[in-house]
This record gives sequence, structure tokens and C-alpha cells, in this order.
Amino acid sequence: MLDHTHDEKATSWVESANWPESAFPVQHLPFGRAMGRGLVAIGDQVVDLSAIAREKSLPVSDLSHGNLLGLADGKARRELRHWLFEQLTSTNSWLAGHRHFLRPLAEVHMILPFVVGDYTDFYASIHHATRVGSMFRPDNPLLPNYTWVPIGYHGRASSLIVSGTAVPRPSGQLKADDAPAPVFAPCKMLDYELELGCWVGNGNPLGEPIELARVRDHWIGVSLLNDWSARDIQRWEYQPLGPFLAKSFATSVSPWITTQEALAPFFCPAAAHSPPPLDYLNDPQDQREGALDLQLEVELGGQTISRSNSKDLFWTLGQMLTHHASNGCPMRPGDLLASGTISGEAPESAGCLLELTWVGPGQPRQPVKLTDGSSRTFLQNGDEVVLRGWARRDGFRSLGLGECRGDIL
Ligand code: MN
Repeated sequence: MLDHTHDEKATSWVESANWPESAFPVQHLPFGRAMGRGLVAIGDQVVDLSAIAREKSLPVSDLSHGNLLGLADGKARRELRHWLFEQLTSTNSWLAGHRHFLRPLAEVHMILPFVVGDYTDFYASIHHATRVGSMFRPDNPLLPNYTWVPIGYHGRASSLIVSGTAVPRPSGQLKADDAPAPVFAPCKMLDYELELGCWVGNGNPLGEPIELARVRDHWIGVSLLNDWSARDIQRWEYQPLGPFLAKSFATSVSPWITTQEALAPFFCPAAAHSPPPLDYLNDPQDQREGALDLQLEVELGGQTISRSNSKDLFWTLGQMLTHHASNGCPMRPGDLLASGTISGEAPESAGCLLELTWVGPGQPRQPVKLTDGSSRTFLQNGDEVVLRGWARRDGFRSLGLGECRGDIL
């Protein structure tokens, strides 16, 4: 729902929020957390909501100790957004007179927005699924269930880390095709995966599915997510139950939640399905505006190596969440769903090195060339990967999702 908080011309008395390149203009108002503090970002500053909550009553409950679970309630979250917009646009506002509640973002050590109970990773990019499938099954890349079931697996919440945390290279079982037995050794085929994370809001009780028509009541917003992957471990372990230790060593998440309210101008039509999805995954509003038009990019060694867009996903976030709860499995506030690698149709829009360096069956991988003269087929120690995302649309202020950064130890 569009309202005055999406007005392109609105400006803030926090000057840095008005800079054209600012990721956090007053139209954005993303939420995040430092130890004991709930925060909202504005320009190059943060507003300390927890400190304010100790002096004033705010629409979202329980902010005073930095717990953001109150954001699960959509009505309260929208009221808080409107209050913040008013406070940050008007020079006569209460907050404009209490500027000590702001401090520089650069001084704040962000942590994950929630203590995540459960983390699930989907596989919602049909371009990713097709390209990866073609490596194993050139004649039949897409498995027959793909266009019917939003495929996913249960990840580990314990290894979710905030952007900026170093990623240790995992060891695991590796088996060369011509070797009689595997060895236990450091992974040689370490990869990133460009994904969107979706934060669950209101949950559902055991046995009560979430209806797709009401799914917006059940998620809060999105962050960038890097699902680091050990391809050589994955190749040996993944059958028959899917990814396990190849994924669970680390998953990086950007610290800011861009709310669905901030994203209102950037929803777009869902991918066309033919035949249509089953009824529980088919909703006119979700088809019309269930996808998100977010421009995403991957930087390696200081240079952009691929660009893609979340509007190309085959399944919407709503369909993933609805499917997850369709057997009656409870979703809980602060749970995290990830989209799966977001790749476009063009080879250069691939969201991971596994795809980006793939030429074709039987051919050697083509390394990505970096401007320093080096090249990468997979990640080396010391490499830093940065994911970035922007929401851009004519007539609206651009919003940045910030960064999801990680370097390999
Ligand atoms: Mn993944």
C-alpha cells in the first residue's frame, strides 16, 4: 500500500539521508539491532529506538531492551514507520529536539536482527535450478517437481552470521570421481550464493497453515543473504537427502531489515506459471504483485562480477512461506527463509561461481578474471565477497539494502 511515506520528494533534517546515493533515505527506515538496542537507519545515522522506548511509548511494544520481535505485528510496525517518518521529516518534531537519540552508523556494531529459531533455504530461481541441473543432467535439467513444489531444505540457524563476520573455510569429505574413497580435507570448491532473506513475522500454530491471501501478515521484510557453499562436499553428500554440511558452516546476512512497507513501490508481477500452481499457491494478488523488483549484485576482489534481479524468481516469498506452513508446520517470529541463489537467464547474471564459471558439459570451467590480473574458479583464502541490493523505480526514491560482506579465512 502506497502512502505519503513513499513520496519521492520527502526529505529529512538528517542531511545525509537526502544525498542521492544514500541507501537509507527517509522513505526507507530499515530496522536493525545492536547489542541491547533496536535501531532504525537514516542516512549515515541510526536512531536508538530502545533508548526512546524508555522515555516514550512507541507503537511497537518491547523495544526497550533491543528486542525487535514487536515488529512482527504489521499494524504496529506501520504505525512506527509513520511515526518515524513524521519525526524525521519535520524540523519541529519531538525527535528533532532530542537529537542525542541519533548517532553515527559507523560507530555501531550491528548484530543479527533476531535470535533465529529456524532457518530454511529455498531454491526459487528457475534459471539457477536449470543451469545447475544441466551440469548433472544435460538432457533433463529441471526435475519434474520443480514447477509444482517450492523446493527447500532446513538449514542451520546456529551458523547464521552478520555481515562482516569472517567465514572459516570448512573441511569435509571430498571424493574425486576416479578415487576409490573420499578424503577428509579443506574444501577446494568454496562458493557464495546471492540470495534474499525473508524475516518471518506472526507465526502460525501447529496444524494451521498460512493462507497465501493473508501471507503478508506473516513476514516483516527482507535482508541480503549469502549462503556460502562447499561444492565439493555438496557433490559427495547431497544424495539422497539434500544439502547438509556443505551449507551449514556459515550463512551471512546483512543487518538491516527492509520492511515490506518500505518495499511497497517495488512489488511486481510474479513469474508466469503454466500450468498454474495448485490452488493453495495461487492467489490473484500474489500473481499481480507478489514478486520484488530488486537489483542485486556480487562484488569479488573489489569488482562487480555479476548482476541479477529478484523479480526473476519462479516462486514469490509469499508462495515459499505459504508452502512451508502448508503441512501445518509452525513458523515463528524471527525465523528466516532464504530465496535460494538468485540467477537470471543470462549467464553473466549467475548468482554463484558454480554457474558463472560453467561453460558446458565436458568442458573445463572458465575462471572469472579480476582486474588485478588474477582469476577465480572458486574462492581463495583472503577473498572478500560483498552482496549489494537496490530498489529503484521511476517516480520513487531508491532504497539500498546495504551490504552483506564476508571474507574467507
Ligand atoms: Mn542456497
